[in-house]
Amino acid sequence: MSETVTVKREECFGDAVCTAVLPEIFDMGEDGKVNLIKESTTLRKELLEAISLCPARIIGLSLKD
Ligand code: SF4
Repeated sequence: MSETVTVKREECFGDAVCTAVLPEIFDMGEDGKVNLIKESTTLRKELLEAISLCPARIIGLSLKD
């Protein structure tokens, strides 16, 4: 089992909070919504911070086989 980062891209507010906290895996698309560069990271503290700071509450973690 491994943890996978998920994001409901269509609901993104486009405020770039997550990209400021964790640019390793989040990037802003040209349409003003977040892009997920990678689905996992070892930077767990930063990931949990991005999850808690996202105003749209659309960043999550899911378990994958
Ligand atoms: S913090 Fe949330 S709402 Fe803001 S850009 Fe990232 S995913 Fe979108």
